Amino acid sequence: RSDNDDAELSQWEKYGVDTSTPHSARVYDYWLGGKTNFPPDRAMGQAIERAVPTMKAQAKENRGFQKRAVRHLAERYGIRQFLDLGTGIPTSPNTHEIAESVSPGTRVVYVDNDPIVLAHARALMVSTPASRTTYIHADLGKPAELLADPALTSTLDLSQPVGLLMIAVLMLIADEDDPWGKVAALRDALPSGSYLALTHPTQDFNEAAVAQVTASARAAGMTLVPRTKEEVTRFFDGWELVEPGVAPVMAWHPEGERSEDPYAAYYWGGVARKI
Ligand code: SAH
Repeated sequence: RSDNDDAELSQWEKYGVDTSTPHSARVYDYWLGGKTNFPPDRAMGQAIERAVPTMKAQAKENRGFQKRAVRHLAERYGIRQFLDLGTGIPTSPNTHEIAESVSPGTRVVYVDNDPIVLAHARALMVSTPASRTTYIHADLGKPAELLADPALTSTLDLSQPVGLLMIAVLMLIADEDDPWGKVAALRDALPSGSYLALTHPTQDFNEAAVAQVTASARAAGMTLVPRTKEEVTRFFDGWELVEPGVAPVMAWHPEGERSEDPYAAYYWGGVARKI
């Protein structure tokens, strides 16, 4: 490792970032071709690629869903404020850039609990003057605290519909921590006419490969829970799914040429309206 690497590592350590073990945000950044990842993250990303050689393409498909879903919510349903939970390391385009391309004046609150995301967010999530973007360092596992955060309540008007995004994040919450209960608490705090867009990795399309992924994650001390269609659909309890329902992300309102195999990215995705 070069002097440069050492300097960079100590810079991150200042922010309280532990670079000695892999972390979900950085492993995902590695797959997306980003620069905010360290040797343990790349080692873990590559271990997963040995089980799932198309992992990089799959991460891009997940991001593709996010882009289409945000645009859909802004264009078709007139959503002008978004709460993006589990934002990740900034990548292009970010939620506020997608939403602003449809409607300047959109407000976005980003939430993540990784200090490395926090360190980036201040510098990168700068919106156009007409719009407002806020970043909150918080745990989505504590929805009541999050919803009461002054940075959230001063940016979003919770009496108006909100687009709630939980893109590739719920798999990091174990069953015993009740991810369904967290989503339900957020649902109850939002007015009807709000929307939920989520994606979730699944074992349904390739059980053996995904079992290997889960095992590599566990060996590295990371919680990663793929879920079945039935389990993913339960996140939408109390919401009304829009067409085409819970679908492989690649089959959710695909643009351009349709893929021959929408099961090539092992993620379910869906968008639903609060009744
Ligand atoms: N939504 C982005 C990033 C997914 S990576 C995308 O799909 O492209 C998952 C992100 O969720 C990581 O940045 C991780 O730090 C964050 N995360 C994990 N658990 C969290 C929690 N309990 N509260 C807030 N953020 C969390």
